[in-house]
Formats: sequence, C-alpha cells, structure tokens
Amino acid sequence: MNTRVAFVSGASRGIGKACALALSAAGNRVVLAARDTEKLEEVAAEIRLKGAEAYVTQLDLRSIDSIKEAFAKAAKEFGRIDILVNNAGITKDGLALRMKKDDWDLVIDTNLSGSFFAIQQVLQGMMRERWGRIVNITSVVGEAGNAGQANYSASKAGLIGVTKSLAQEMASRGITVNAVAPGFIETDMTGVLSAEVKEKVLAGIPLKRMGTPEDIAAAVAFLASDAAGYITGHVLDVNGGMYM
Ligand code: NAP
Repeated sequence: MNTRVAFVSGASRGIGKACALALSAAGNRVVLAARDTEKLEEVAAEIRLKGAEAYVTQLDLRSIDSIKEAFAKAAKEFGRIDILVNNAGITKDGLALRMKKDDWDLVIDTNLSGSFFAIQQVLQGMMRERWGRIVNITSVVGEAGNAGQANYSASKAGLIGVTKSLAQEMASRGITVNAVAPGFIETDMTGVLSAEVKEKVLAGIPLKRMGTPEDIAAAVAFLASDAAGYITGHVLDVNGGMYM
C-alpha cells in the first residue's frame, strides 16, 4: 500500500482543499495546514470519513517559527514528508503608483518567502528517502503579468524561479520540483471579483468557463505521483487556454 505523506498548505478551502482530497484519494496520508485550524478539522473529518488518514497543523507562512513548528509536528506525526504542495497564497491588489510597502511585503512574504522556507523544511527528509515531490502553485499572472497585481505577479513569477532552480539542485536526489499555474478558478479568492470583471476575464478564456479547484488538483496529483517521475522544472498551465 502507498503510505506516502503529503503536506498541503492552505488546505482549508478552495484549491488546497481539493488537492488534499485528491492526494488522499490517491492513497497518500495528508497533512492539512493553514492559519484557521477549525476549518482544517472539517476537511480532515471529510477525509477520515472515507477511511483515510489526515493530520491538522496550524501554519502561518508569514512566520519562520510557525513554518518550522508546523513541519516538525507533521514529521513527528507521520515520520516523514514525501510530497509538499505549496498552495497557500494571498492577494493584496492595488496599482503600483499607490501600493503600500506593507501590501508589497505581505504578499511577497506569504506567497514567495513562505513557500521557499516550507521547501527548506522538507529537503533533508526527501534527500534521505531519495524520493520527493514538490509542487508549487503559481499563477497565470506570474507568467503573463496583470495590471494591479505587481506584488502578486512578482511573488508567483518568483516561485517559478524557485521551482526551476530547486529542480536543478535536487534532480540527482530523486526529488522533482514542478509548478502548476492555474488560470481563473472558482474559489473565495475570485469570489470577491465583480460580475463585470468576471465577464471580461471569461471572454478571454477559449474553453469558456472558469476552472474548478478539482481541475487544479488533478494536475497536482499527477505531478505528485510516480507516473510523473521524469518531469521536473516544469510549469503546467491549467487555465482553459487563457495564456499559451
Ligand atoms: P483561497 O480560497 O483564498 O485559499 C487560500 C488558502 O491559503 C486558505 O486555506 C488560507 O487559510 C491559506 N492561507 C492564507 N494565508 C496564509 C498564511 N499566511 N499562512 C498559511 N496559510 C495561509 O485561495 P485559492 O483560490 O484556493 O488559491 C490557492 C492558491 O492558488 C494560491 O496560491 C493562489 O495564489 C493560487 N491561484 C489561485 C487562482 C484562482 O483563480 N483562485 C488562480 C491562480 C493561482 P487561512 O486563511 O486559514 O490561513
């Protein structure tokens, strides 16, 4: 039986929750992490109802101490971490001219620095096992840019740089590092957008629909599987064709 352990940040809702469910359905034990543990417990209950194993730990990606503690607890609970899905992320949009330093720092600290420090926590264990899968959730905006999202697009483009550098550093150790770049996905993050903005974005999507969290989770589960063993340093677009 596959007893691998998958750590998913931001697993309480949206894409992260779908990733946790998909990785669990694929036979992995899952660690669910985010700031709000009550919501994580609900996801864990859903997983345990199906007879699979889930462990909840609090994680705040803005704090290196919190990152270290969350990974230490998870490794203690399950013995090791084989798969890391760096999914948690935030937006704090604004035009560059008026963007406050705090809004720049918050998004870079959470999405880019937090994800990098999370990777640092799992490398030694994966090197020991000579097997590992790291999947970073970037964004179409990290590839194409977007007006009003200089901080967010920089964080996501940075994550692509981290992905390609780490893929080269870790290849000889049996660890693959890839990214998934979602397009326009139905979650709380996009729920705040006006009907007008949504219509405009939809007009630019050849497949003529928003993506679902499950569309992203399927790509993540594939990259985390043995079947994807010869893929590393890749950015997999899951965006309905909105950017090619
Ligand atoms: P979401 O519904 O807003 O969920 C974000 C998750 O991240 C939540 O579980 C949240 O839980 C967690 N999180 C936020 N800040 C955190 C922190 N400081 N420390 C730890 N966890 C934190 O977002 P989503 O739409 O599912 O997006 C997931 C990922 O996909 C993000 O990286 C996002 O940038 C990327 N993405 C989304 C879209 C889209 O259209 N939705 C498109 C491209 C890329 P807590 O608040 O409890 O911490």
